[in-house]
Formats: sequence, structure tokens, C-alpha cells
Amino acid sequence: MTQTILLGARLPGAPHRIIEDRYRILLPDGDIMPQDELDEHLQEADAVVALLSQKVGAAQFERAPNLKVVSNYAVGYDNIDVDEATRRGIVVTNTPDVLTETTADLAWSLMMAAARRIVESDRFVREKRFTGWQPSLMLGLDLFGKTLGIVGFGRIGRAMARRAAGFDMTVLYAARSSAHDDAAADGEPRLVANRDPRLVSLDSLLRESDFVSLHCPLTPATRHLIGAEQLRLMKDSAVLVNTARGPVIDETALIDALENHAIAAAGLDVYEQEPLVPDRLLALDNVVFAPHIGSASHDTRRAMARMAVDAAEQVLSGRTPDHPVNPSALKK
Ligand code: NAP
Repeated sequence: MTQTILLGARLPGAPHRIIEDRYRILLPDGDIMPQDELDEHLQEADAVVALLSQKVGAAQFERAPNLKVVSNYAVGYDNIDVDEATRRGIVVTNTPDVLTETTADLAWSLMMAAARRIVESDRFVREKRFTGWQPSLMLGLDLFGKTLGIVGFGRIGRAMARRAAGFDMTVLYAARSSAHDDAAADGEPRLVANRDPRLVSLDSLLRESDFVSLHCPLTPATRHLIGAEQLRLMKDSAVLVNTARGPVIDETALIDALENHAIAAAGLDVYEQEPLVPDRLLALDNVVFAPHIGSASHDTRRAMARMAVDAAEQVLSGRTPDHPVNPSALKK
């Protein structure tokens, strides 16, 4: 019997066309399938390609008797109940690597835009308020030679560190506490050169950094990793950038800190209750906003689409997918 692949969205480059002679493909009527329709169609699905905004948990698995694979069109998979999938022998896959540089580019852009007040400046010129060069117009912050703190030193975190080398920045990073313990057990990580990234505690990173960029996944341990207490540790001249996931920051605490100028600015691609962005946050001039576009380049979104459809096809045809999140489900 022909197997069914359910697509939660119409994907760039339409890579499902390559396999549509061998599989039944279920597509949304519009660009994105609403959650209730996705839930309904899961009844017929052997595979689903899901978006990070589509929830795939126990309630969805209950409706999907034939489901063998959830292929997430994202590297982060906090929208999926992976433990439940594993218990049911359902493979979960994601799209790592192909979006690393694109997402780091966006984080870097937000950092520079927030530091140099690019969005405020753009608005100022459009409003025809530019009347000539002034010594104190739109003064911002330097990046060159400053200290960048990276929280989550994985693929994207390391890509940020590579960019920082070009700006002669000192790079600090914080890892999971277990990773920190491993490094400590080996003795302090040795510095090969003065500018090598240095593993420090999260508190030290927050105290010492001029720029803090978040690149950890959203997990129970990282939810509100940055709250009022952590924001208090940061310099009042510091910039916080979040391209990870919104709930990693306690947004109310962040708004308080920005309103009180306890930190200088923020660059945000993700929000706690996405797509809702609180009015109090929108009212702030010292924030640069993006609508969750970390991986949004033409090339990268096509590469992700191809990877996500390939993963569904690999599992359905009995092969090992390139990027399983829960390899133990493959053995079931
Ligand atoms: P990755 O390679 O898995 O890196 C994540 C890193 O975070 C790992 O080194 C991980 O350490 C570390 N980590 C986990 N818990 C931590 C904690 N409590 N404190 C500090 N570090 C911690 O993932 P990636 O490809 O770089 O992607 C990172 C995240 O970025 C994704 O999970 C996703 O949520 C987000 N993202 C957002 C966009 C966007 O559009 N804005 C695009 C792409 C990705 P271990 O290896 O020890 O677990």
C-alpha cells in the first residue's frame, strides 16, 4: 500500500515532487496547515514533516496509528515530545548544520543593529529628521575588541565565535553544567592563544560580557535560564541577543531590565509566547526585532526542506535517516 507523507507546510523548492510518484503526499490548502487540520490528517500519515510551530506530542501520536517518523523542519525540536515518540518507536529527525551559518549571520546582524542603533537610525532618516551631522547623534556601542559571551557552544554558538575572531573579540562560553564539570575535571581548559574561547560559568559570562548571545536549545533546564537574577549580573552597557527560543529568557524580566536601562539593548528573533510580542516590549527603542527568521535565507530554507523530506523518505523506505534525534527509536 502506498505510504502517506503529511507536510505541515508547502516547503521552499517543493522537494516532495521528487518522491510524489512513490508516496501519497498530503499538503495544506494554504501555505501552512493549521494545527487542527494537521491533527486530523495524522490519522492517515506514515510520516509527518512538521514546523517548529506545530505541536507533535502524545495527543497527536494517539491519532496517528501508522506514524513512523516525525521529520522536523528545524534544528530545534522542543515542539515534539521526543520521549513519547521514542516510547512508541517513532523516529524524530531534525535539520542540523545546513542552517548554522545563516542563523549565526542573523544573530550577528541583530547584535550589530542593536549596538549601532541601525533600526532607530533608519526610522530617523525616513521620518526626515536628519538635518545634518552631529557629534552626539545616535551614539552606540563598539563591538571590535569587546567580549562576547556565548550561551550554548554547539554548532551555531561556534559559528558565532568564528565571526567574533574577525572583530578581535574575547569569547567566553557557558555550557551545560555537566560539560563544565567535565572540563573542570580535566583541569581548566588550556588557552592555546589569548583569543581562544574560554569556558566559564554562566554567572561569570554574564558579569564579564559586553554582548551575550543565546544558542542553547529550549529544554526544561534552559527555560528562563536568563531571568531577573541573571539580568542583574549583566553590565548596564551590555547587549543581549536571542536567536535560540523565546522561553529561554523570562520576557517580563527582560522588559523590566530594558525599561530600567539595567542592560543597554536587546536583539530578539524569538519570543516567549510566539507570535505574540508584548506591547511593553514593542514600545522600547533599545530593542531590535526580527520575526523568527534565523534560518530564513533562500538557499538555507531550500536545503532544510530537502533534508526534511529526505528524512521522512529514508525512514519509510527502511533506511537510517541522516539526523535522527532519538536513534534508540530506530531499533524498535
Ligand atoms: P547544538 O549544536 O545542539 O548546540 C546547542 C548547544 O547548547 C550544545 O552545545 C548544548 O550542549 C548546549 N546546551 C544545552 N543546554 C545548555 C545549557 N543549559 N547551558 C548552556 N548550554 C547548553 O544546536 P544548534 O544547531 O547550535 O542550535 C541551537 C538552537 O538554536 C536550537 O536548538 C534552536 O532552538 C535554535 N535555533 C533557532 C533558529 C532561529 O530561527 N532563530 C535557527 C536555528 C536554531 P550539549 O551538547 O552538552 O547538549
